[in-house]
Amino acid sequence: MIETNQSTQPKPSSLLGYSLADLETIYAEMGEKPYRVKQTMEWIYKQRISDIEEMSNLPANLRKHLSDTYYLNDLQHIETKGAADTTRKFLFRLHDGRYVETVFIPASVGLKGKQSTRKTICVSSQVGCAYGCKFCASGLAGFTRNLTAAEIIGQMLSVEKIAEQPINNIVFMGMGEPLANLTNLTKALEVITGHWGFNIGARSVTVSTSGLAPQIRKLAEFPAPIRLAISLHGATDEVRDLIMPINKKYPIKELFDALHYWRTHKKQKISLEYILIEGVNDDLDQAAILAKRAKGLNAKVNLIPYNTVEGLNWKRPSESHCIAFRDIVAAAGINTTLRLEKGGDINAACGQLRLKKETSEGIIKAPVKTTS
Ligand code: SAH
Ligand code: SF4
Repeated sequence: MIETNQSTQPKPSSLLGYSLADLETIYAEMGEKPYRVKQTMEWIYKQRISDIEEMSNLPANLRKHLSDTYYLNDLQHIETKGAADTTRKFLFRLHDGRYVETVFIPASVGLKGKQSTRKTICVSSQVGCAYGCKFCASGLAGFTRNLTAAEIIGQMLSVEKIAEQPINNIVFMGMGEPLANLTNLTKALEVITGHWGFNIGARSVTVSTSGLAPQIRKLAEFPAPIRLAISLHGATDEVRDLIMPINKKYPIKELFDALHYWRTHKKQKISLEYILIEGVNDDLDQAAILAKRAKGLNAKVNLIPYNTVEGLNWKRPSESHCIAFRDIVAAAGINTTLRLEKGGDINAACGQLRLKKETSEGIIKAPVKTTS
């Protein structure tokens, strides 16, 4: 049983869930001067204070009101996997006793041996996931709830604090389906890209989706040039239907219509993500069809050898097979990457740490072990 807040007081909300325009409205209703909004945002996103009381240039009565009504970041850091300077995975406890995972990937040697200055965070957008892709740990125990915009932003503030490094690249590739949480996602995107907020360039923000076609069209209206990644994982409906139930609702034709629509709104290339699972979607015929689809969309292709998930029997193909698959896609003139580093448990897709923790605490039942 999850404890709930039994108090009759209205539950305070987090200031992290507000954009500049939201806070301007709230302050105007309170009769506060507009410049107080800017001061407040500076304390949160420039000074990175952890307590509202630290906003020392705000009048005492405003500080008191804010402290009584709002809080900042309520994520509790529980566990870290991985050593400093490498990819690290963090487990955070939410106010209702649920858990989410966030991954931090610091600068590494990039293409052509150049040192990359990218510091990437991979954030979760939901607790669990309702889409139940057959290979994925996040969907294994079903869906619990959406994360609020404040909980998405909270992951970023917490990770920057723990890692003591500024983030300059963000991917929505953690637990959950971001496009099924569109309202909170777009609010978080406003804070992430706002000059008054995280101030991360929209081109360094990637939203990944399993293919919710109508929501792709809606997100295309977001004004800043954010990037889109599609978890394709099958080049034909036949293969995709086997592993991604969403494909029954939005088959490839419908998905690609939405992607063409996206392309009319944004200049950046779409990325097609394709995990390679032995004997499931790694037939070389799929590579040729994938290349054709990518070409039609002028998209990039990222091939990712499958990371083993506890309780699932899927396996990654041999390295030579992954290379053969890549070569077919690349030969068609597609910008193609293949991540050949050993997956290890840290790089594994999100959802596993949380699954273990919530199962051990009896919050969720041990997920059914199945591969079909
Ligand atoms: N729901 C969204 C956002 C999550 S992104 C989406 O599916 O796009 C998480 C990415 O990791 C997805 O591309 C997903 O397919 C991939 N993934 C899930 N399980 C994986 C595994 N075991 N090994 C490698 N990639 C995996
Ligand atoms: Fe959900 Fe994405 Fe995992 Fe599918 S791959 S279950 S949509 S998180």
